[in-house]
Amino acid sequence: MGCRHTTTARELVRLPGGGVLIDTPGLRAVTLWMADDGFRRAFADIEALVGSCRFHDCAHDREPGCAVQTALEGLMQGRTTICIAHRLSTILKADLIVVLDAGHIVETGTHAALIERGGVYRKLYELQFQG
Ligand SMILES: [Zn+2]
Repeated sequence: MGCRHTTTARELVRLPGGGVLIDTPGLRAVTLWMADDGFRRAFADIEALVGSCRFHDCAHDREPGCAVQTALEGLMQGRTTICIAHRLSTILKADLIVVLDAGHIVETGTHAALIERGGVYRKLYELQFQG
């Protein structure tokens, strides 16, 4: 008998601030699921902004002057933001980039450090921006 935590069934762990961590046996991925109303409201606000974007074919990603991008940057001020992205343009300014390959963390660092390193991140960057 001990106090060691072993996951035997799916478990929802409530986090301070209204978040929920889903702990599922046999699954290596960890999902962070923000279930609080404030977060849902923030998404609704962003969805409403999509209509005010002045570009017709905007991906609301890196287009200068995009209303959605501007609003997101405002929301991220003074907050720790976890951003899951496939388009690297979304994360170029991140303080810490964690590169996952086949479910494993293979590199961590800033954009500049990872470019310098010349590994997986640099290969992805070159594919997306010089392809
Ligand atoms: Zn836009």
